Amino acid sequence: MKGNKQIDITIVGTGFTGVFATHKFTSLGYSVQTLEAGDGIGGTWYWNRYPGARTDSESYVYQYFFSEELLEEWNWEEKFPAQEETERYLNFVAEKFDLKKFMRFKSKVIEAKFLEESNCWKVATEDGYEIQSQFLLMGSGLLSKAQLPDIEGIEKFTGKILHTSQWPKEDLSLDKKNVGIIGTGATGIQVIQSIAPKVKHLTVFQRTPNYTIPMNNPKFSQQKMEELKRQYPEIKQTRQNTFAGFFYDFESSFHELNQQERLACMEKYWKEGSLSFWIGQFPEIFFEEEANREISQFVRNKIRSRVNDPITAEKLIPKDYGFGTRRVPLETNYYEVYNQPHVSLVDVKTNTINKIKGNKVILNDQEISLDILILATGFDAGTGALTAIDLYGKDGRLLRDDWKQNGVSTFLGMQVHGYPNMFLVNAPMSPGAAFCNVPTCVDQQVTWIENCIKHVLSKGKNAIEPSKISEKKWGEHHDEVAESTLVHKTDSWYTGTNVKGKARRVIPYCGGVGEYKNKCDEVTANDFIDCQIY
Ligand code: NAP
Repeated sequence: MKGNKQIDITIVGTGFTGVFATHKFTSLGYSVQTLEAGDGIGGTWYWNRYPGARTDSESYVYQYFFSEELLEEWNWEEKFPAQEETERYLNFVAEKFDLKKFMRFKSKVIEAKFLEESNCWKVATEDGYEIQSQFLLMGSGLLSKAQLPDIEGIEKFTGKILHTSQWPKEDLSLDKKNVGIIGTGATGIQVIQSIAPKVKHLTVFQRTPNYTIPMNNPKFSQQKMEELKRQYPEIKQTRQNTFAGFFYDFESSFHELNQQERLACMEKYWKEGSLSFWIGQFPEIFFEEEANREISQFVRNKIRSRVNDPITAEKLIPKDYGFGTRRVPLETNYYEVYNQPHVSLVDVKTNTINKIKGNKVILNDQEISLDILILATGFDAGTGALTAIDLYGKDGRLLRDDWKQNGVSTFLGMQVHGYPNMFLVNAPMSPGAAFCNVPTCVDQQVTWIENCIKHVLSKGKNAIEPSKISEKKWGEHHDEVAESTLVHKTDSWYTGTNVKGKARRVIPYCGGVGEYKNKCDEVTANDFIDCQIY
């Protein structure tokens, strides 16, 4: 079926970005078509329905603030909601604002081509649908292209094998099964702590241990929700100006406190049970080796105290990178899992997975038979969803080739030279690519895009793209900030090292959400002088 409609904006994805952008642009009177690969709303919260999936962001900030009515009507059940509640919330928003009529599901975008003669994008989906629009907004997600491990024989595994982001909607029974899981990132940790009580035997294949923080996740009473709602106006204001888009910001300087005071401060944040221990305590975590060492040691001791077997404890403690230089997951009873006799931890750095044969994982010195193998092996982050699509800009250039040959390059993480009228959200070189509470950055970036489009149209023009020089300057600024942090020294998806052949570069903008917003606002205030408008 072909749609030859000419509309204003095509939006890709129905996660937090797509739902918000669909609401914003349709309520401003633009004609919009939103395309979604899945058969439902939710993006990350549609696909990642693995056991234990839940947010690491507090519900009362991990939400939209654009409608007083919505804020009043929706009541969160928990501080850190599970996948099901977050997916339900996004559906509630879509129903409330009648957005589904603008959305086309089971419509995986495979190609988008900029037509220079008409300054339009022609967008094609896997099922043969085509649409043309003046603007293209990519809300395809920063963590949506699954990264599968390159292990000999994996495709012939005779048990059940699945990546966590492809978990089926119907119940997958793990009861009394021999289950293996590869990966101990934020996803793996949630899966492991959730399924350990159900399975017959669980083998965790760990390459790099993670630092974590214990999650404090109370259920909310009606009274608590009312109290939180009274704080919404303040949370709404505060989140745009903090380092990571939350309602808290770095509180103290590491150096202003003596060691005793620092210890007391760390204990206080530890009890808080949220990411504030990481992105709301000492900024030096990100910049100074010495400060980072002391904080890392504090967390290592916490882990050590929870694992009975000292050898297992040492395997679970990160030694070769500092706390917070990779994404810090929250956990619940994760370490206690390893105190149970039916759970084994395999360090695949020393006991390599050589191949998979039949239903067996063949290690250097062991063979393990499994019924189910779970791949919690992460994502080709930031770039993956964009380079998976054949995205053609001016002169037939292909984004995938451009970024492979010249490295990733964006202006503010939202536009790319040579790809006019295309806008990216939570993409590389913006804080939303990792260092942002997603809805905060969605709100800020989509609002910036709205102003940009308004500007083009108010000038009677047809297209906008950043100049090559502005993009280059943004890249230099991005790298300068990134290289002042400890993040760029650590291997992880933040630096792209989890994907073979991907050039090492810090993906998210590390200057903070508040600082980033100021820079975006300057571009708007200067009438988009950094861009070519024609
Ligand atoms: P991830 O952090 O990239 O972790 C992937 C894991 O798989 C790592 O432990 C990695 O080891 C391992 N791995 C990959 N390939 C492997 C191989 N061939 N052999 C052995 N181990 C292998 O991915 P993720 O856990 O899916 O999390 C990605 C991001 O999603 C998170 O950082 C977070 O931002 C987001 N997330 C958020 C939540 C939440 O809010 N609660 C939950 C889940 C995910 P190495 O470290 O050695 O590469």
